[in-house]
Amino acid sequence: MTATIIDGKAVAEHLRTRVAARTATLAQQAIVPGLAVVLVGEDPASQVYVGSKTKQAEAAGIRHFDHRLPVSTNTAQLISLVQELNARRDVHGILVQLPLPASVDSAAVLAAIDPAKDVDGFHAVNAGRLALGQEATVPCTPLGCLILIRQVLPQMAGKRALVIGRSNIVGKPMAQLLLQNDCTVTIAHSRTRDLPGICAESEIVVAAIGRPKAVAGDWLRPGAVVIDVGINRIADGSGKTKLVGDVDYAGALARAGAITPVPGGVGPMTIACLLLNTLNAAIRAHLGAKAELLSPY
Ligand code: NAD
Repeated sequence: MTATIIDGKAVAEHLRTRVAARTATLAQQAIVPGLAVVLVGEDPASQVYVGSKTKQAEAAGIRHFDHRLPVSTNTAQLISLVQELNARRDVHGILVQLPLPASVDSAAVLAAIDPAKDVDGFHAVNAGRLALGQEATVPCTPLGCLILIRQVLPQMAGKRALVIGRSNIVGKPMAQLLLQNDCTVTIAHSRTRDLPGICAESEIVVAAIGRPKAVAGDWLRPGAVVIDVGINRIADGSGKTKLVGDVDYAGALARAGAITPVPGGVGPMTIACLLLNTLNAAIRAHLGAKAELLSPY
């Protein structure tokens, strides 16, 4: 068997096009979604991520307000900026790029964001609503993964799903989303015993570990849908580096039913979902809680 490759770039482009179309409709009502982006320090990877986010926001008709702050910025200053952004009517989404410098209390900064503007879905109010099955802003990466799974598996009810990783930003919300879609969900982590045995039973595997080739191809159940969230930079053998996921891609291709590549799988979906969350935050802010939101699908 050779797995179907799930083209995250194409699916993300389709979602961005839908977001742009809805933004254009809102513009006729003089509503322009606004995203505030807060970047502290000079971390090169964060600068690249923020650059992609603002470029794609612009292309989708979303206004962005950039706040680039020195690495010396402290927790109180950041909370004060967040409070200012909370109060602005032209800002519908607030993105604080992580990681923040070690000297900053990241949890306190994220907790200061108005849950209605928490387009990353990291606030305890949104995490709690998601866990309770209530309407919530869902974290962008797991939402992107769910959209990709639905591409190849429209009916997920009853499927055995395995999420490897239990972080607050990927693993836990991913498990909640799969549960909402009636999967039977297992969450594995660094202390899990017999991961190969659990993989062998799983029809859906989402790997969010942060270790190259942590999931071997021959662990997979034949035909499984494999979503590889990992982004790992490794030496490519010729003195350069390349990005790989958490799954042994070559091995998995021969065994899985469908798989996301790295790069070009989950990564593009994360930004597209950020735009979706910003658009929907603007719709709620201007048209009320009952207004029709843009669906992720
Ligand atoms: P994290 O470090 O917070 O969590 C990693 C999780 O993996 C932990 O819960 C840990 O228990 C688990 N783990 C570690 N070793 C394990 C092992 N041997 N077996 C099973 N589980 C193990 O990481 P994160 O923020 O959740 O990110 C995970 C990966 O996803 C990273 O590579 C990150 O770069 C990537 N990521 C990608 C995107 C994207 O847009 N594509 C977004 C977020 C994170």
